[in-house]
Amino acid sequence: MSHVSEASITKTKPNKKNNSIPKIKDAENLFRTISGNSSKTMSVKLLQSELRKNGILPNDPRIKSLSEYLSQTPGVDEHITLEQFKSATKECYSIIKKALSGEFVIPDFEKFTDELKTIFDEVKNNKDGAVADYIPQLKKVSAEKFGVSICTIDGQRWSHGDSQDFFSIQSACKPLNYCLALEENGEEKVHQHVGSEPSGHSFNEITLDPKKRPHNPMINAGAIMTSSLVRPDLCPADRFEYVLNNWTKICGGSEPRFNNSVYLSELGTADRNFALAYFMKEHGTFPKGADLQETLEFYFQCCSIDLTADQVAVAASTMALNGMCPLTGEKIFNANTLKNVLALMSTCGMYDYSGEFFFKVGFPAKSGVGGGLLIVIPNVMGICVWSPALDENGNSVRGIDFCQKLVKKYAFHNYDSLARSDSKKSDPRKKEAEESSNNIVSLIYASYHGDLEAIKRYLIKGVDINQGDYDGRTALHLASAEGHENCVNFLLANGANIHSKDRWGATPLDDAKKSGNKNILSELKKIKQ
Ligand code: GLU
Repeated sequence: MSHVSEASITKTKPNKKNNSIPKIKDAENLFRTISGNSSKTMSVKLLQSELRKNGILPNDPRIKSLSEYLSQTPGVDEHITLEQFKSATKECYSIIKKALSGEFVIPDFEKFTDELKTIFDEVKNNKDGAVADYIPQLKKVSAEKFGVSICTIDGQRWSHGDSQDFFSIQSACKPLNYCLALEENGEEKVHQHVGSEPSGHSFNEITLDPKKRPHNPMINAGAIMTSSLVRPDLCPADRFEYVLNNWTKICGGSEPRFNNSVYLSELGTADRNFALAYFMKEHGTFPKGADLQETLEFYFQCCSIDLTADQVAVAASTMALNGMCPLTGEKIFNANTLKNVLALMSTCGMYDYSGEFFFKVGFPAKSGVGGGLLIVIPNVMGICVWSPALDENGNSVRGIDFCQKLVKKYAFHNYDSLARSDSKKSDPRKKEAEESSNNIVSLIYASYHGDLEAIKRYLIKGVDINQGDYDGRTALHLASAEGHENCVNFLLANGANIHSKDRWGATPLDDAKKSGNKNILSELKKIKQ
């Protein structure tokens, strides 16, 4: 009997869902795989739904040529031939292939987003909190609104609820302004004017650090300061346009709106922000030549930008991809800028709840009193949760709830990687079946080469010591055949089965006989008796 049990075979088989679209070699294979082997035409709807399942939406700029072909070529609204498929995909073939062959960061995107939808439905029942009222215009938004949107670093998008409603980004403008200030002035100059320490006070507290700087760029005083460092050389109109253009870039080409009513409402109730600015002026904190009134108006304009959750998720994914927008491939910020902004979002992004948020949830985020939450899971995705009812700290109640439920299920906390061995959380980044079979192959390979340290690592990872390869060859077979005494001893001490048979019926002892290593032979014989 082969030692490769039914259970272990099943374990290494990809599940049915992953298996529905096998690896694809070329356009023809791809065409056949989607349309069904014998079919001469492919349903356009089916193609679009396969792409959507994998997170590629029709308005994705990377498949623009395909979408245009489908909308402009007469007669292709329902089915296309192989030749038409080839023409339609010639400029975007690689992205389509990647999407359909599960090569994106979240390979089973459909399963992942189904689970996000479940979290969304649970969180929707949470009716706590109240809409911000200190800026009168914000009070008018319904507390019932709720939208969630994600964009991965491979540009896989999904959203649910009110994700296309425009909302006031408010303090979620602070990370971008800080990035712009850094890119323009460099870290040293920026941090002569603003610190990098959580303030320990509320976001609009009149307080400065011992160097007379606002504590960090994520609270009001700090954001007013970083705003003063963004293109002060430009006239107010061009300066604001510059910020809008940068939002457009990090949102993958989709334009923000300006909400003049919110701006006027904010300007009319800005005593605290004026007080903060005068306090900083009194202490000589502003860069030379900064105009207080102009800086404040510019800051209020930035807070009065409206975006949708869909747009903010793409902006957050640009931050997750180290400053490159996954939808356009445009590099907007350098790596150091991203390192700085993500560090400060982690420590200071959630008002007075920042420390606890990072402790519990463990990823960088910035919230605004409009109810938006810009979330970055570095190297995985950007998320936006928008729900206007706020808690006592000014954070979206449902936003926090969503994040907490998300990290309960998925290993997205920054330090989950350290707790991996005893964590029950899933990781949507990996194809579990594939990873398990890769590990088995690696363990066997390490045994073949006599790499004891690697063998130890794989066993610590939890790889089954007695699992065999396709031919039923186990780590012990290979170590015995190659005469690696230390590895054989280690494997035996850790439960390797000397009775395992490969598919030719050979045991590790038979391999040891062939290799002629007397020590291994006697060790195996000793155990066999
Ligand atoms: N524009 C708001 C203010 O300066 C921003 C508040 C916020 O979202 O934290 O008061």
